Amino acid sequence: MHIYPDAKAVVGAIAPDEAVILNRPHAAARAARFFAEKFPGTAMYAVKANPSPDLVRILWDQGITHYDVASIAEVRMVREVLPHAKLCFMHPVKTKSAIREAYFTHGVRTFSLDAIEELEKIVEATDAAQDLQLLVRLRVSSEHSELSLAAKFGVDLADAKPLLQATRQHCDALGICFHVGSQAMTPFAYLQALERVRAAIAEAAVTVDIVDVGGGFPSIYPDLDPAPMEDYFAQIHRHFESLPISYSAELWGEPGRALCAEYSSLIVKVEKRRGNELYINDGAYGALFDAAHVDWRFPVVALEDDLIQPLAEFSFYGPTCDDADYMKGPFLLPEDIQAGDYIEIGMLGAYGAAMQTRFNGFGATLGFIVEDEPMASLYRGDRPDPRESDNVVSLR
Ligand SMILES: *Cc1c(COP(=O)(O)O)cnc(C)c1O
Repeated sequence: MHIYPDAKAVVGAIAPDEAVILNRPHAAARAARFFAEKFPGTAMYAVKANPSPDLVRILWDQGITHYDVASIAEVRMVREVLPHAKLCFMHPVKTKSAIREAYFTHGVRTFSLDAIEELEKIVEATDAAQDLQLLVRLRVSSEHSELSLAAKFGVDLADAKPLLQATRQHCDALGICFHVGSQAMTPFAYLQALERVRAAIAEAAVTVDIVDVGGGFPSIYPDLDPAPMEDYFAQIHRHFESLPISYSAELWGEPGRALCAEYSSLIVKVEKRRGNELYINDGAYGALFDAAHVDWRFPVVALEDDLIQPLAEFSFYGPTCDDADYMKGPFLLPEDIQAGDYIEIGMLGAYGAAMQTRFNGFGATLGFIVEDEPMASLYRGDRPDPRESDNVVSLR
């Protein structure tokens, strides 16, 4: 893959007519080192956030040894790229054939579940294996997160007791996991969830060997400036230590977004301007799914040197013929931007490149490595502490 200094160099060299993905291996490596060194337990990468084999290799090289996989295709991909990685099948609803192949062909021993039917499926598909690590997914609140994961999965606290007790009978190690929702804006989300874990353990009176705090660790976007990651780690650690669990119990986490958001950005070209609407060549069916579907505001910069300030607010239309291919923003760009100009859209390494379709024949097919910094970073050590401004709630 060709390496350029930055997005402007790519535009200068090839003036691309299609959207282009830019990857920053150094940024993903820095995030991985941060989690490998500072997370007070085992940080496993949630592969769905960006299932790029290149990325997975970068994370492995920096000490990320565990991978949260959710489909048999993800199991196969990671196993092929990383023969020695530990794979954890953390989707609570799996097919029997997927469980069987994961267990017998790919060495997967760790599975999550949130219902008795799934436990029966796992027991049957593994021929009642004795070496399973089974994690019961508890439903927790998503109120502190930008994207909810509270509705679909997780056993209610009121129903957790029989499921934990039954699961204990069929596993070598019993865990409890949860997901506070993606882009959790305060560590308090985890503390609240860990209180629910405490209640579940007390109620069921089972020995718990693993507490898995799931994903939800944030990245930085316009208007979404979270507390320092060290705060999340410190508070999770302190709370974990106070749980009624076995002395040798392990703490796990499943960061997706936080490990890869800084990895990628996207170059798009303005094809047309209508008032403050820019028609660009990527969108809802490309790498900008979240910008369209949940109005996520990604950071943007114009790549032309001769554009003058001030900035104005723009919305985007993507290239397909669908009205829903619309990104409300607002995205702040120079007032005089016009057709033919290029824009870089940042922080798209998580749930960006991963969401692309080829609908209507559009979408980025070119990718390059660039060496400059991502538009924002949680891991550079030069970020002002957002708790000192008043737009982030700190609950300490
Ligand atoms: C999506 C997902 C993750 C990753 O979530 P992020 O918000 O990207 O950190 C982790 N665990 C499970 C089970 C998931 O479904």
